[in-house]
Amino acid sequence: QLNVYSFGNKKADGGRDMKNLLGGKGANLAEMSRIGIPVPPGFTITTEVCTQYNEEGRESVINRIEPEVRAAITRIEETMGAIFGDDENPLLISVRSGARVSMPGMMDTVLNLGLNDESIKGVIKMTGNERFAWDSYRRFIQMYSSVVMGLKPESKDDLDPFEEIIDHLKDKRRIEQDTQFTVQDLQDLVYDFKDIVKKRTGKPFPNNPWDQLWGAIAAVFDSWNGDRAIYYRKMHGYPEDWGTAVNVQAMVFGNMGEDSGTGVCFTRDAGTGENMFNGEYLINAQGEDVVAGVRTPQQITLLGSQRWAKLAQVDEEERKESYPSLEELMPDIYKELFEYQNKLETHYQDMQDMEFTIQQGKLWILQTRNGKRTGAAMVKIAMDLLKEGLIDEKTALMRIEPNKLNELLHPIFDPEALEEADVIAQGLPASPGAATGQIVFFADEADKFKNSILVRVETSPEDVEGMNLAKGIVTARGGMTSHAAVVARGIGKCCVSGAGALKINYKTRTLKVDGHEYHEGDWISINGSTGNILEGKVGTKEPELSGEFAELMELSDNYATMEIRTNADTPKDALIARNFGAKGIGLTRTEHMFFEVDRIKAMREMILADTVKGRKQALKELLPMQRNDFEGIFRAMEGHPVTVRLLDPPLHEFVPHQLATQKELAEELHISLAAVKSKVAELEEFNPMMGHRGCRLGNTYPEITEMQTQAILEAALKVKKDGITIKPEIMIPLVGTVEEFIQQKAIIDVTAEEVFKKRKDTVEYSVGTMIETPRAALIADKIAEKADFFSFGTNDLTQMTFGYSRDDSGKFLPTYLEKGILKADPFEILDQEGVGQLVKLGTQRGRETHPGLKVGICGEHGGEPSSVGFCQKVGMNYVSCSPFRVPIARVAAAQAVL
Ligand code: PEP
Ligand code: MG
Repeated sequence: QLNVYSFGNKKADGGRDMKNLLGGKGANLAEMSRIGIPVPPGFTITTEVCTQYNEEGRESVINRIEPEVRAAITRIEETMGAIFGDDENPLLISVRSGARVSMPGMMDTVLNLGLNDESIKGVIKMTGNERFAWDSYRRFIQMYSSVVMGLKPESKDDLDPFEEIIDHLKDKRRIEQDTQFTVQDLQDLVYDFKDIVKKRTGKPFPNNPWDQLWGAIAAVFDSWNGDRAIYYRKMHGYPEDWGTAVNVQAMVFGNMGEDSGTGVCFTRDAGTGENMFNGEYLINAQGEDVVAGVRTPQQITLLGSQRWAKLAQVDEEERKESYPSLEELMPDIYKELFEYQNKLETHYQDMQDMEFTIQQGKLWILQTRNGKRTGAAMVKIAMDLLKEGLIDEKTALMRIEPNKLNELLHPIFDPEALEEADVIAQGLPASPGAATGQIVFFADEADKFKNSILVRVETSPEDVEGMNLAKGIVTARGGMTSHAAVVARGIGKCCVSGAGALKINYKTRTLKVDGHEYHEGDWISINGSTGNILEGKVGTKEPELSGEFAELMELSDNYATMEIRTNADTPKDALIARNFGAKGIGLTRTEHMFFEVDRIKAMREMILADTVKGRKQALKELLPMQRNDFEGIFRAMEGHPVTVRLLDPPLHEFVPHQLATQKELAEELHISLAAVKSKVAELEEFNPMMGHRGCRLGNTYPEITEMQTQAILEAALKVKKDGITIKPEIMIPLVGTVEEFIQQKAIIDVTAEEVFKKRKDTVEYSVGTMIETPRAALIADKIAEKADFFSFGTNDLTQMTFGYSRDDSGKFLPTYLEKGILKADPFEILDQEGVGQLVKLGTQRGRETHPGLKVGICGEHGGEPSSVGFCQKVGMNYVSCSPFRVPIARVAAAQAVL
């Protein structure tokens, strides 16, 4: 097997199916070359070499691959008709990292590698442009030193050392723009740059192009184990042993005059999913100029350009004059580019994100990849591609990352509140959504406030962690393809980029715009769909889910075999879940109903009562309230099944623990403070999670079960009169022995008899249990003989299987995740290996004695895609999750079948 795969000249050693070995970028470059797209020739060093590098170290690996690399460079030299390091006709190359998936935090690109004191002469000869040659050289030293040699600003508010030299020279020469530098200035910069490199790193800047190349290759491999890359891998759960490939490619120049340029384009809109070719470019510039956002990029299409002008408040004349589209400026190149984007999207059957360069009138495609997109774009693109016949239903469904649907379910600005709000500034709608929060200026301080908006001049890969923590991102510089915009869309964060009117001062932590000053901690709101930045907090409202989203949901339901229910305790939540497509309620936690202010008193009276009679008296007050709750929920669910769980939490949760409130309670109930205090002390538990809760309550205080049963059935009888047929499913929590279940069921059945007799009417009901203690799972066969249904309470089951307290695990889980002791938080993602065994076993044993037993899950895992997949495998009938996760579960359930 090769260590090095060449491509170019419409040929390639590799292809698209070799992503694991060549990385995403390398596989795509090979594929593009193979299908006739003009990519600059080059080669890819495999990810396996990276793994060997990590194991064996630099020297032995470089020795092994050296002959192949040399041969590959020779092939590039032949295709380009240039020679590496030559002083007549030099070949310059770029070096890039490229893992299986695009990964911010990996080594940045190094361009113009091969430039040195000799080859610079060749570049001058070839281009006849001395200025360009020296400018490239100084850029190369800047980039190589920072990326490969690790020369960085010393602190975060320190200037980049090279920028400092540049500023100094500008001051001295009394100029403002880089473009005003003379050739001599640029030459001076090269010498000064080399000087500072030697001073700061202790090593001279390498002049030999081969030393430069090996340094860059090693830096790519090293970057795989950099902090940022590790963080990103953890965030997405990518394994460490994937490694990264290295892509080496001939340079083509976008900065060789007015007939040259560079740009980034998308085959569809990455923000909305709209089927519109779009992108940005700059004339006479290198690739990083577009992404870094130093100059304002121009739009590729005429339509895009006109839309942009409207947002940027640029009139048509000025637009045509100063910011023409590529379509207008270079119609032939535009036509060719349009053709390639079409070809590439059809070939890859997905939205592509492409980079291109025009060198003296010739178009080169530098890379293409499946474009990062927002949740909304993900849905629209998948459904559109399906309608266009480019992909089939199953592929469309598999294109959906269920968790990303979250973005679509979240609030948007309330149009009325928006009308009232003052617009501070206008940027580009880089990543849609609504966010409101307090200003922070540094990514590593994004957690300073509960809701923060990160405001930067521009962002860089170091900021990804903070961008993830912030509620939204604003940049003063940069276009729709700037780092901030691309990352924000990828993580589904609201972002406004390129708000040029913002004057940000990191030192004073202030933001000036239009004579107003905003400080760190001030509230602002941003609208990522329009680019507006607004003053203060702006109210939000629920989004509407129609169009492609509704189509996707329908498609999912056609494939899913499990039913999706919701966990809802109020009619309001039940309605939200119904709108999201829940087909029933899998868990109503009745205790939540008791916490409300107007009820807690009766609840406390019940708890404080010393006699059954006293308890019954207090429960009588609670009965009508509970009945109302259930009635509301039953009506909201319009005949869909509803599972109501009997009281679960320990009683001490309901009594006051502070002296002042204890006093109040004593007065209210006309009992002594001492009595309240002693009852509270009595209820105190060392380990409440394993204490007097669940069916242990109903078994020690049967009157609670009686009251709740009565309330459930009376509510069902009441809605029956209005034509709503509901068959309540009464669920007993925290069962560990069969007898616990049998005795509770007996109380329910007797109470039901009484209710039916009194009301002279009946409803069907069933009595089931939660399986949430390990013992219940183990004796599931015995419980199933008596129970009508099972619902796995995987929150408690996880707690008791691991022996991790749900309430205290926050103290050690983060460390466990960091150290790799656990791969994921088991309270979030079902531990299939351990807890999953109990779920599987419980289901199997249950169905042994009770064929066809209805089984579901109502722990938090019921809305987590990988856990939903597991539930399907185990053969569950339904999953139940919080209302906002219902759409996620619907798609996950469909994917679980495919
Ligand atoms: C569970 O334990 O998984 C469950 C759903 O019940 P609760 O979270 O209310 O304990
Ligand atoms: Mg539980």
